[in-house]
Amino acid sequence: MNRYSADRQRGVVKRGEEDVKPTLAGQAGAAEALHQRWSEHVAADRLGVPVRDRDRELLHLGADLVAVRGAAAGQQEGDGRRGSAGRGRSFHRPESSLSNMALDPLRDGHGRSIGDLRVSVTDRCNFRCQYCMPAEGLRWLEREQILTFEEITRLVALLSSMGVHDVRLTGGEPLVRRGFPRLAAMLADLPDVRELSVTTNGFLLERDAEALVRAGIDRFNVSVDSLQRDRFYQLTRRDALPQVLRGLERLASFPEAHPIKINAVAIRGFTEEEVLPFVQLARRTPYEVRFIEFMPLDGDRAWSEESVLTGAEIRALVQAVHPLEPCGREPHATARVYRFADGPGKIGFINPVSEPFCADCNRIRLTAEGRLRTCLFSLHETDLRSPLRAGASDAELERIIRQAVWRKELKHHVGEPGFIQPARTMSAIGG
Ligand code: SAM
Ligand code: SF4
Repeated sequence: MNRYSADRQRGVVKRGEEDVKPTLAGQAGAAEALHQRWSEHVAADRLGVPVRDRDRELLHLGADLVAVRGAAAGQQEGDGRRGSAGRGRSFHRPESSLSNMALDPLRDGHGRSIGDLRVSVTDRCNFRCQYCMPAEGLRWLEREQILTFEEITRLVALLSSMGVHDVRLTGGEPLVRRGFPRLAAMLADLPDVRELSVTTNGFLLERDAEALVRAGIDRFNVSVDSLQRDRFYQLTRRDALPQVLRGLERLASFPEAHPIKINAVAIRGFTEEEVLPFVQLARRTPYEVRFIEFMPLDGDRAWSEESVLTGAEIRALVQAVHPLEPCGREPHATARVYRFADGPGKIGFINPVSEPFCADCNRIRLTAEGRLRTCLFSLHETDLRSPLRAGASDAELERIIRQAVWRKELKHHVGEPGFIQPARTMSAIGG
């Protein structure tokens, strides 16, 4: 556990804006007007009025206001409002070459502060999971379309200085990107990145676990959908379970990598048979197993509401054998975590379909080609690569980001009439 996590558990450090003085004094009128008009916008949202039919000026007013606040905050750098907590790794350079100017926290138009960024480092993958990619794969991005390590680092540095302190690297399969541990080390060196994690299918972990731990990755989520070789093959279309388990074992040999989370997508008609083997794994190893409800982000477009095996249903299957006790939910957490009342181990449920957690969602995503997405199910995205490559200053990028985040969706509409599945699959978004 890094120093920040330890402090947070003790309540010494709180994520977000707690240590930031209000900077709205003197702008109360503008804020009030904005609030009033934003409430109307939210009401329109509830009524399903498309945003393009509404007052676009509102979005600019909001973005301008936060940009002014951002600039004011920048001028106050050094007044001790928010120093870098640092990440306390002895193997990192203590100073970063990138500036560490704390900016105003990044907030959306619904008042949620954004603290979590998922970065897709590649759209490519060595698996073809049925719930994610089509069997034939997808048309991959060209090399020059993908953000370079330097471009990713610049954007993460900027976002982390706006309070986006938790960064998860994902894909596609992040470990297939050549030189990935070098990128991890570049990001781990950023002073405002407090937790750096990776989601991987584990296939290359046997090769890369040590390099990634040494680079400064704090947390690993490894996706494993079945503990039976043939069923694993059936779902991922790759006969790779033994390789993945060897990778997990290698990772587990590094105490710094613990606790390791194992994610399994829960699909009706498939996962029921996996529940008890996963429970046994969670009870006899240090891995925390989490079931994720199947979401409509699959390449085959086979998702249906009936295909979702809900967290509540899986919990009932577990409870029938081992009593569970809820652990407290951390703010913004995606998982509801339970401990076994009759032994060691924990199990979690990520229920975006049956129990959406949009109300305190603090996440944004950056795709491999540099598009900012404010929701997994966004139908709009914001191109950051073009301005980045056209020579935009940090202030200009900040303004574009704030405008985009201001429009973050109130909620996803999965399961509601009129829901539209995004064109991108989970692999092309960065889950
Ligand atoms: N390739 C890596 C992996 O599989 O862990 C990282 C990328 S993958 C897109 C990130 C996570 O999204 C994985 O845990 C995967 O199981 C999950 N995922 C993919 N498609 C999903 C879907 N349609 N519904 C729910 N979870 C999904
Ligand atoms: Fe690849 Fe991960 Fe998607 Fe499976 S879930 S196809 S491993 S990106």
